[in-house]
Amino acid sequence: MEPTIAGKTALVTGGASGIGKAIALLYAQEGANVLISDIDVEQGQAVAEQISSMGVKGHFVRADVGDPAQCEQLVTEATTQFGRLDIACNNAGIGGELNTTADYSLEGWQKIININLNSVFYCMKYELQAMQRQGNGVIVNMASILGAVGTPNSPGYVAAKHAVIGLTQTAALEYAPQGIRINAVGPGYIETPLLSALPDDQKQMLVALHPLGRLGRAGEVAELVLWLSSDKASFVTGSYYPVDGGYLAR
Ligand code: NAD
Repeated sequence: MEPTIAGKTALVTGGASGIGKAIALLYAQEGANVLISDIDVEQGQAVAEQISSMGVKGHFVRADVGDPAQCEQLVTEATTQFGRLDIACNNAGIGGELNTTADYSLEGWQKIININLNSVFYCMKYELQAMQRQGNGVIVNMASILGAVGTPNSPGYVAAKHAVIGLTQTAALEYAPQGIRINAVGPGYIETPLLSALPDDQKQMLVALHPLGRLGRAGEVAELVLWLSSDKASFVTGSYYPVDGGYLAR
């Protein structure tokens, strides 16, 4: 069985940068038509143009995934543009405030929960409605190693990513009978703009947490997401897959 997603239609949130961009480009390389969304219009349009130059359809929609109305509109746009929605990767996310739990600001908490957790619920709600009408579909949610373990100074991020895994499992149980598969992936620390603000010594500390001795690459996460999105993973649902250079094995 070939792991093809050729001719399918895919939606990637946060597709303008980093991991989401790598996923969108790999989907396109494998022959899927890809709609990417982001709040970064310039970069988002550039990725969509790159996809269109690869012999498949690329389309960009500006959508803030923290707003349920924009998530609904995004899914409507995907089904209007492409006729159906076969694959959705809910990837958009932020790093958020770095602070201990007692000192974490209320605004910081609400923001990270909204962008990293509520957004996944909002997107899934409307993606699932479209997939139910079709009778099939695949969803991959972007969690993190910090969806499986804690780390100091990121209570909001850790809570949101743990919840994304629980939400993934629950929806997978609800929609398995309808042929919709839903999984989550958990990257270790990946070299993307999300980490660019970190000073070099802190990056070195992160490297030391990965037994493979380096940070991950966005393309390495994309390969796992592609596999989960394809029929090669036809018996896989409700699971959480780390792609973490051994981080969780320590
Ligand atoms: P990134 O900053 O390179 O890309 C994130 C993209 O999301 C950006 O294009 C940004 O504009 C977009 N975005 C941010 N807020 C948005 C919003 N409200 N609506 C729509 N789009 C929005 O970061 P990345 O490292 O590629 O992160 C992608 C995902 O991977 C995130 O969910 C992140 O939590 C997760 N992740 C990253 C790492 C890592 O080390 N980089 C590790 C584990 C998990």
